[in-house]
Amino acid sequence: MNKFSLQILLLLFLTITPFSNPQAQSRVDNILINEAERITRDTFTFSTETPRGAHVFAVNKPTSKMLNSIDAGLADLFTVALRNNYSKRLNYSDYTIFIAKADRGKNNANQYSPDIAIGAAQYAGSVYDQGGFIYAAGMVLAFSPCAFVIAEHTKDFQRVSEVVRFEGEHIVLYHNHRKHYNKTADHSQGGGHPILQ
Ligand SMILES: [Zn+2]
Repeated sequence: MNKFSLQILLLLFLTITPFSNPQAQSRVDNILINEAERITRDTFTFSTETPRGAHVFAVNKPTSKMLNSIDAGLADLFTVALRNNYSKRLNYSDYTIFIAKADRGKNNANQYSPDIAIGAAQYAGSVYDQGGFIYAAGMVLAFSPCAFVIAEHTKDFQRVSEVVRFEGEHIVLYHNHRKHYNKTADHSQGGGHPILQ
């Protein structure tokens, strides 16, 4: 490469970079938001970040308790991931969390359990099947970027941290231990959380 073409390249790089990144970012965000809205049938009007930098889209303005509990769940996830010598996707900013409307407030045992209703798919006919859909505490939406959906909580924020850690387990395994991910991704075949010790 001669000097002249290198200059052109640098010039192009400097010109394009500041503009293309935000556009690419918002395109990825739009794909994620569409997927989250398709699955939950909610509208995610609020966007913010947790104190430690995880991205959040929500149906209502998230409380600081919700945001801090998301951070606490990710902190637990990263701790257990490091213990297993995993190194990929262990930054808060790697994660996008959607906070959806709870489709139920209590579980079958009448305990506080804000969950989302999602299409049954591979859970059809299993113990989880509620007639074409299942209730889930959370669900992975995408692996790159790392995204999942949980339900809005007004109390029992410890549960928020747990759900975040548990959905995050699938994503961390996907990037760090694919074989183990494949074995543990589908709970209709048995097995639950925590997966990582
Ligand atoms: Zn799971």
